[in-house]
Amino acid sequence: MNAMPRAHELGLIGCHVCGLVCRDTQVPDAACPRCGASLHRRKPDSCARTWALLIAAFILYIPANVLPIMRTVSLGSVDDNTILSGVMELWVKGSPDLAVIVFTASIVVPMMKFLVMGTLLLSVHRGSHWARAQRARLYRLVEFIGYWSMLDVFVVSLLTALVQFGFFSAVEPLPGVVYFGLTVVLTMLASMNFDPRLIWDGKDEDD
Ligand SMILES: [Zn+2]
Repeated sequence: MNAMPRAHELGLIGCHVCGLVCRDTQVPDAACPRCGASLHRRKPDSCARTWALLIAAFILYIPANVLPIMRTVSLGSVDDNTILSGVMELWVKGSPDLAVIVFTASIVVPMMKFLVMGTLLLSVHRGSHWARAQRARLYRLVEFIGYWSMLDVFVVSLLTALVQFGFFSAVEPLPGVVYFGLTVVLTMLASMNFDPRLIWDGKDEDD
């Protein structure tokens, strides 16, 4: 496979913000002539920041799952639910479609983000040139999901709506939901801090 020339080999830098391709002047604090954003060949400390945010998100994801996220009151019985027990309760109470949405938003999507970001970071550390185009695509997928992270907020509003539909007489958020919210924010920040151009760096002998 013939390697495409890289921007830095051509003496060029792309602006993160407006996309303008600028000449690499090698000046430490170079700014984009069009939008004024600072220019970097690679985002500074991208890997370290992404690791830190991802690990913090993972640590917070533990109490998010262990602690109850909501208290439901139905027909006088009060239940404190964790994410998983809430999913099971929705399933049992006859709304499997809602159970699937909550399960996807709160278990599948975060786990997938941890897995994909972890894989990207590890492969970048190893300077691996394995499946670069696919990894770039995976990163875009995580970014795309980032736009839909509000789905998790949507789930909370959905639960409130359940009160209206009469599934429960009251729903009250509990501390677990705070940890969950923090997990969502930190995974989003982790994917924003990752520089996908790093995928194309590293050893190139086989290219
Ligand atoms: Zn710019």
